[in-house]
Amino acid sequence: MNIPFLSFKGMHPQLREEVVGCLTRFYDSNWYVLGNDVKQFEADYAAFNQTKHCIGVANGLDALHIGLKVLGIGKGDEVIVPSNTYIATWLAPSYVGATIVPVEPDARTYNLDPTKIEAAITEKTKCIMPVHLYGQACQMDSIMDIARKHGLYVVEDNAQAQGAKCGDQLTGSFGNINGVSFYPGKNLGALGDAGAITTDDDELAYKARVMRNYGSQIKYKNEMIGINSRLDEAHAGVLSIKLKYLNQWNEERKKIAGHYRSGLGSLEHVVLPYIAEEVDSVYHQFIIRIKKRDELMAFLKERGVGTLIHYPIPPHLQEAYQHLGYQPGDFPIAEEIAGTALSLPIYPGLIEEEITYICDLIHDFFEKH
Ligand SMILES: *Cc1c(COP(=O)(O)O)cnc(C)c1O
Repeated sequence: MNIPFLSFKGMHPQLREEVVGCLTRFYDSNWYVLGNDVKQFEADYAAFNQTKHCIGVANGLDALHIGLKVLGIGKGDEVIVPSNTYIATWLAPSYVGATIVPVEPDARTYNLDPTKIEAAITEKTKCIMPVHLYGQACQMDSIMDIARKHGLYVVEDNAQAQGAKCGDQLTGSFGNINGVSFYPGKNLGALGDAGAITTDDDELAYKARVMRNYGSQIKYKNEMIGINSRLDEAHAGVLSIKLKYLNQWNEERKKIAGHYRSGLGSLEHVVLPYIAEEVDSVYHQFIIRIKKRDELMAFLKERGVGTLIHYPIPPHLQEAYQHLGYQPGDFPIAEEIAGTALSLPIYPGLIEEEITYICDLIHDFFEKH
């Protein structure tokens, strides 16, 4: 068997006609930037995410960057971020000149640990950036309580969890202003880079809308120093089509996760994902943790199974953040995850035989090692 880490086989072939129809209409439309398809997708995604506003932007990183910018966060302000995340969560506060304050995750959920946040808050703290890592919602009720108590903003990094919930509420609808990515491999992915901002706040929504378009609402009239970060019409059209299937695809991911759990549950050396009470996961990734991670990865690769590591180097040990002066050992939980996490294939269209094959191989591996 040959099982790639990521495939669109359960999503794209079925939508071919609809998507090609949309792209043909787009090609002939004579209108390529900020038109009706963007407006329509923004309305569709705001309805899906149960937020008053959605503002399409060029990618997820820009969404986070613009979010912090319109909140007025900048030099001298401290922003709390998880020590274990994709680098983008750190880059956004870096762009606005803010100081990064990493907080360790809960060692079981891999998400920001609410009990560790307050110790990191100082007079300079302005914002908490929870990341719903691997598709699992953070414990947003506790995080929002802490933010309210200390008068802090919250900017959710919802790049990996479109459709996930904490309690009855969707991720991307808790924070003051939130970012989401539609990078192709995300649960909802465009045919290239794309992202959006979600918020209930009229004023922040207005500012973000102006910011993404050169600081301009009326052509050639610039009210702020903005950037060019617009969502393309072609991406918006395709995203509206794919959005109709997102809940169904997320359900499929949950089913696959269930198969992995029953296939791997008996292995004592494999740590399976732990989903906290009151939250749900849309399983952007299915992470297992094992000591002999690199050996298992090579073993699976030799037998046709693609896996990835999310993420092999935590941000504080990246060359880009050398100037912060962190050393190995400073964030042991993030480092432990980086050293032991392995992401197994999980996507709509991955069939039960394939999951069984992967689980059987992992059993074989542990018999030999
Ligand atoms: C993908 C991702 C981003 C950035 O999204 P892009 O669209 O690639 O810019 C930000 N944060 C996390 C956690 C991500 O996984």
